[in-house]
Amino acid sequence: MQQTEKTFLAKSEVRAADLDHRRKLNFNIAQYRGAVARGKAQFADLETARERAKNVKWRAMENLDKYLEDFEARFTRQGGHVIWAQDIEEAQREILKICREKNARTVIKSKSMVTEEIHLNRLLADNGITPIESDLGEYIQQLDGEPPYHIVTPAIHKSKEDVAQLFHEKLGVPAGLSPRELTQVAREKLRQAFREAEIGITGANFILADIGGVAVTENEGNARLTTTFPKTHIVVTGIEKVLPSVSDLALFWPMLATAGSGQRMTVYNTVFTGPRKETETDGPEEMYVVLLDNGRSTILARETVRESLYCIRCGACLNACPVYKTIGGHAYGATYTGPIGSVITPYMQGMQSYKHLSYASSLCGNCTEVCPVHIHIHEMLLTNRHEAVESHEASAREKMAWFLWKRVSLSRRMMNMASGKTKNKAFKKMFSGAWGTRRHMPEFAPKSFNQLYAEKGKG
Ligand code: SF4
Repeated sequence: MQQTEKTFLAKSEVRAADLDHRRKLNFNIAQYRGAVARGKAQFADLETARERAKNVKWRAMENLDKYLEDFEARFTRQGGHVIWAQDIEEAQREILKICREKNARTVIKSKSMVTEEIHLNRLLADNGITPIESDLGEYIQQLDGEPPYHIVTPAIHKSKEDVAQLFHEKLGVPAGLSPRELTQVAREKLRQAFREAEIGITGANFILADIGGVAVTENEGNARLTTTFPKTHIVVTGIEKVLPSVSDLALFWPMLATAGSGQRMTVYNTVFTGPRKETETDGPEEMYVVLLDNGRSTILARETVRESLYCIRCGACLNACPVYKTIGGHAYGATYTGPIGSVITPYMQGMQSYKHLSYASSLCGNCTEVCPVHIHIHEMLLTNRHEAVESHEASAREKMAWFLWKRVSLSRRMMNMASGKTKNKAFKKMFSGAWGTRRHMPEFAPKSFNQLYAEKGKG
């Protein structure tokens, strides 16, 4: 068993039994449930909207090379710079190069999962540059020295009391502040950072091929400040974020807002088309977009999982997943958690080390049901299991267990050889490790079908 799998199992075991954790997580997720239902009501025909969104992403992924080159050509013409990064190391190298050229000592960031993927904060800190998260949830997580717990709501596992205690301990403010007071504290601390930072770093919710634009969606206005005060703006984004046209936002903006948090529209939606023009009064003097591959083209090349690139990172599948809601975000040991994370992580961080995530699912299909772009997530988890077996990533023990299971269960003679008791014993020996200690293993009937049939015949 790989170390990543052992860690996953150990962390899951602890979290699954932590009822306080489950209460907080489920309470916070439940806040979205009613709001999402209300948000969906804004669509006259939600199913058609979902199919349309899926079609747009299908077109974008089938022509990804063309749309990315279109984006690059237009964005460059508007004065921006595009950097293509094959992997994490290349993205890190290029960003560090820019930071050094600008003599950056402080970098202000808005929420971005791709910067988590490339471990940007650690890289900057190791090189004497202070990264400051400006999204409130990310700021809380940074104060606590933890990565985000959820792709949309980074501190979803914390109660307001937890946050008040954290601010008291780390910032020396009085204990027991209210959410409003805590927000005010964060705001005051961050204002200073916005003014001091030499570089602002954001992610991108969408890259717009036809206008050479980057669309950023947020609720707090911090991304706008991140891109307004500093002289340099760096966008770090995955290549799959591309949409063919700016007009696609009319569908994707409300779709993202509704599926993620139940809003009709997220509060601030900004499209950046390059650095500040001569006639403009604010904005950065220079703008860079780092287009990260890091396994995405491997996913693109596999027809069976290509659909996972349609993901708009709304977080709905995490909120709907019974496994995520039980074990939480940190157990996965990956940047992208929940059902979609379990699909894509093996291609980004290695099938051998992360194939076990395909089993972190009840295959109930809730994730597929709620996905706004209709990705068949649970089917792709099955595909990954198959892929792991086909590429001989399964352990010798697992292979032997399944070989014996198949051999015996396909032979009526062998099935009849042992009593129910013996079969239960053998089954337990083979599978109890994988089954876990908290579930009852299925039991064989005391008598086989043949025995019952023969007895009935005699009667
Ligand atoms: S897979 Fe679908 S539901 Fe999950 S985060 Fe992506 S878009 Fe949202």
